[in-house]
Amino acid sequence: MAIFEQHKQLAKRHKESTDQQNSHQNMQNTDFDCCYDYLIIGAGLYGSCFARIATDQGKRVLVVERRQHIGGNCYTEEEDGIHIHRYGPHIFHTSNEVVWEFVNRYCTFNNFINTPLAISKNELFSLPFNMLTFHQLWGVTTPSEAEEKLNQQRLQLDRPAQNLEEQALTLVGNDLYERLIRGYTRKQWKRDPKELPPEIIKRIPIRLTYNNNYFNDRHQGIPHGGYTALFNTLLKNIDVRLGVDFHEDREYWLSQANKIVYTGQIDQLFNYDLGELEYRTLKFEDTWHRTSNYQGNAVINYCDEHIPHTRLIEHKHFNPEIVETNQTVVTSETPVAWKRGQTPYYPINNKTNNALYEIYAERARKIPNLILGGRLAEYQYMDMHAVVASAIRRCQAIGMQAEN
Ligand code: FAD
Repeated sequence: MAIFEQHKQLAKRHKESTDQQNSHQNMQNTDFDCCYDYLIIGAGLYGSCFARIATDQGKRVLVVERRQHIGGNCYTEEEDGIHIHRYGPHIFHTSNEVVWEFVNRYCTFNNFINTPLAISKNELFSLPFNMLTFHQLWGVTTPSEAEEKLNQQRLQLDRPAQNLEEQALTLVGNDLYERLIRGYTRKQWKRDPKELPPEIIKRIPIRLTYNNNYFNDRHQGIPHGGYTALFNTLLKNIDVRLGVDFHEDREYWLSQANKIVYTGQIDQLFNYDLGELEYRTLKFEDTWHRTSNYQGNAVINYCDEHIPHTRLIEHKHFNPEIVETNQTVVTSETPVAWKRGQTPYYPINNKTNNALYEIYAERARKIPNLILGGRLAEYQYMDMHAVVASAIRRCQAIGMQAEN
């Protein structure tokens, strides 16, 4: 990419002019030496973890972020004492001790456990599918009764499932599929499950116990003070420029540092010259209610197709430790078709998109001093723990340990 090839020259030119202006500082002008060691594009989780580790290793770091806030999609905003998850509900969970120890240096977590519910035809069901769900659906009370019911319901195929519907029917049978999967999936993907590839649901967790903890990980919780508290500490004493889109003045920003860490969309980095990658996006709408408790749970899924939203999120339940308020905010999450310029939430990892991504990634690998990281640059959905682990590993690979 030409702009990166010019990077070293640009940086040198910028350094020379800066040196002329600051000659009293007696800076060495003989070698390439920018103001910063790293320019990090994006103040989301990947960029912020990388920035913290590099800074603690004595590197000079500049972070630029196009939004008006830090935290990327994990950002929480406080209103009336409630930490609102601005870009969808975020529950931190991990079994990776290195990751857990790392994040706990920068915030403390409460003991929130994710126990979502689903509504179908005005009836409530426990998630993930567990003994309580089977009781609610079929009235069964023992694991053997539930197992028998599941076996009666499951579709038997003598060939691999050809689409998502067949895959779901072979895994959980008709009742669970019709009540809790079909409508939700149609809303989520804006396509009929028969037209979606079976790989989207490789497996559906089924528990023959009454355990309704959504995650199996050893550690789980939400930061006290919301995720923004975590990001404030991660980025403490680091130069951050908000409201800056790197692509609007690449030359200038590239001239600021020796090395670049890019966490934005990989196709945008190459001006989409081989085409666009596809994403799914979401619309979030807040409603404030004059009651201290609206739905009694942080997350409730809406499975019926005629209801446009897929989830209602009542944020105050993420932080039950906060002082009680007499109002509450509930956010509806509605999938909408994505087009360029909208927030890209979920990559659509089908064969065409993955092949295009590989070509862009190969080009990026040839650019010296460029590191790609995070969900947009790597074009894959990653939970937060995976993003933290990836930033720690990347730093280690270039000789920067996440110091204890
Ligand atoms: P981002 O958070 O997207 O950060 C990238 C940043 O780069 C953004 O702030 C963006 O504005 C900025 N940027 C991009 N381009 C430019 C540019 N040109 N110039 C300047 N800045 C730029 N994970 C969990 O572990 N648990 C959950 O419960 C969970 N729930 C989720 C719910 C939803 C709806 C979604 C979408 C994701 C969820 N995740 C969850 C995943 C989590 O959001 C990601 O793991 C995490 O946000 C990824 O961090 P990131 O730094 O890679 O990307």
